[in-house]
Amino acid sequence: MIEFRGVCKAYGSFQVLQNINLQIEEGEVVVIIGPSGSGKSTLLRCINRLEAISSGELTVNDTRLHDKKVDINRFRRDIGIVFQHFNLYPHKKVIDNITLAPIKVLGLSKDEAEERALAYLTRVGIADKAQSYPSQLSGGQQQRVAIARGLAMKPKIMLFDEPTSALDPEMIGEVLDVMRALAHEGMTMVIVTHEMGFAREAADRIVFMDNGQIVEEAPASTFFQQPREERARLFLSRLI
Ligand code: ADP
Ligand code: MG
Repeated sequence: MIEFRGVCKAYGSFQVLQNINLQIEEGEVVVIIGPSGSGKSTLLRCINRLEAISSGELTVNDTRLHDKKVDINRFRRDIGIVFQHFNLYPHKKVIDNITLAPIKVLGLSKDEAEERALAYLTRVGIADKAQSYPSQLSGGQQQRVAIARGLAMKPKIMLFDEPTSALDPEMIGEVLDVMRALAHEGMTMVIVTHEMGFAREAADRIVFMDNGQIVEEAPASTFFQQPREERARLFLSRLI
């Protein structure tokens, strides 16, 4: 589903991603961890071309993203992304936040889009908030709206960049629960998170990054029990 081959990314003379090789299969849940500034967000953003790569090859959902001729809007329909700060439209009701793209991009009728939006709001447990404005919701509820909005496009891949980092501790669980359910349903997911308990239990694979490189890649159970690399060990020991 996703394949990085020798991918490099630079901002000016600064190499933010160096020789990234990574393959993610359909239905896999991959968690990316690593110190701040190691390139996790950049790697994630390359997957839906919010960032263009400098060299190498990146193929996502059969689209060759290194090919400058790709129809990026068509491509992005199939990739949902959820950010740390929910990025909801504050002046639109919850339901309208969710129906916007399905109507505009997929051409659904208002009725169809609202029916779909309500189905996903039900799935994330907040159908009763459909007519509220984002500011009337807690952070955890807003993030669940953001997830429902992503799902309403029926994407093939969901990307998450620290989806719980801006939340009060008591709201983290409700967002992780939604993500866990998605993982069980077979969604292909790439998740940047510092929630190691979640990573250990929900991820098929852990990718540990440092300094723009993938330092270690292992099944979740192996990684947390016996990380191979010194840098990974150090990182984990500092979290405790
Ligand atoms: P992480 O998500 O692991 O914290 P990022 O991918 O956000 O790391 O950033 C990796 C490095 O690239 C950091 O040193 C950051 O300062 C730098 N960086 C990120 N975005 C830009 C940008 N638009 N221009 C220049 N440097 C950037
Ligand atoms: Mg980041």
